[in-house]
Amino acid sequence: MLPRRPTRQVSIGDARTGIVRIGGGLPDAHGNASTPAPVSVQTMTAGYTHDVDACVREIHKLHAAGADIVRVAVPEKKDTEALKEILKQTNVPIVADVHFHFQRALEAVEAGVHKIRLNPGNITDRAQVHAVIDACKAAKIPIRVGVNEGSIIERKDKQKRMKELGAVFSEHKHGYLLAIMIAKLEEYLDIFYERDFRDICISAKSMDAALVIDAYTEISKRFDHPLHLGVTHAGPKETGCIRSIAALSALLCNGIGDTIRISYASDPVYEVQDGLELLWSLGLRPRQGVDLIACPTCGRIQVDLFTLVQDVRKALAEKVTVPMKVAVMGCIVNGPGEAEGADVAVFAGDRRGIIYVQGQKTANVPEDQILPTLLAECLKFQDEVKAGRAKLGEKKVEIIPPDPLGELGSGWEKIAAGSVEQRTVPLTVDRR
Ligand code: SF4
Repeated sequence: MLPRRPTRQVSIGDARTGIVRIGGGLPDAHGNASTPAPVSVQTMTAGYTHDVDACVREIHKLHAAGADIVRVAVPEKKDTEALKEILKQTNVPIVADVHFHFQRALEAVEAGVHKIRLNPGNITDRAQVHAVIDACKAAKIPIRVGVNEGSIIERKDKQKRMKELGAVFSEHKHGYLLAIMIAKLEEYLDIFYERDFRDICISAKSMDAALVIDAYTEISKRFDHPLHLGVTHAGPKETGCIRSIAALSALLCNGIGDTIRISYASDPVYEVQDGLELLWSLGLRPRQGVDLIACPTCGRIQVDLFTLVQDVRKALAEKVTVPMKVAVMGCIVNGPGEAEGADVAVFAGDRRGIIYVQGQKTANVPEDQILPTLLAECLKFQDEVKAGRAKLGEKKVEIIPPDPLGELGSGWEKIAAGSVEQRTVPLTVDRR
């Protein structure tokens, strides 16, 4: 199990949505002891908040995909006006993302939102920040202070404090930027502390994964608030995935991070799926659904494994909720070793597949029957697990690898058909 940095804890949600806790290990804002909550996954809707029906549909979709918290943008009054209805029709904690207009935060709190996100780069007036803090305090909801490299970089107040901090951080590749982010946070959080408000989450995002790692590492040494991790503007899913996972994994492996948002220029449902997969892979959350392993294929492959793996993934995601391990292997060279520990495995051969359930061979089928047979075996195994007759990860017998020259039909059939000449190999002579 990876370590977790102890933090204060914030709670978000209500009796209807359920409470999602973020961070923990130190007393919460009200002095109550807390234990670290599982790292939560959040995302943000991509559509307009004022389009109530579409927004509610999108929130339901994201919640169904596994989002613990969903954020919505409220750039205009019509967006905060829509919040009341959205909150009534959804059952996941909702965060209002506020920029530039502090009134949007007040309206969102009034509507009953579960958390506010403020950007120190664009809501700077002390009296306005105080007004938002007081409203959140009265409503007992937390605030995320979200510093973004992009929204503070053009700040003109590059005075002494920055220079001092710049010197402190000179060993960092991004020393100056890091200095501005930390200074801005310190300065902004002082406004909250003045009001004795500590129900706070912090984020410090950048599109640069290395800066994100440095920024959160430094922040974790200076503040005891829970941290919302993210790489902002990470790009399309294909590249944004690497950028985000690189930064978030490095931090999570060091115990830093209490809630995560992966952000893609794509359907946010992928953000939720990839966020969950990251936490499952690191063992930070118990896996829900299938853990699918598959070989990368090579010159030994004799079935269309890429298509098979995608089809298996899709079919199992829809039908299997038990966190069983399923292995789809292209041949028997590395297959048995890799499939050790899999609950259900298939080894492909010459246009055929042999299926095993916890080491026990259950079927040998032609290529076009691999998917339905594997799915049927997985569903049967799921029923057994649910009924308490089988246990996940419990191999009943050793896998005896299929014979690639006979059982998988690649060798002897061809030899018998005369299409391959049978070679004879001289026996080794024992000269002792
Ligand atoms: S399992 Fe077989 S086909 Fe797949 S990569 Fe390994 S050797 Fe190649």
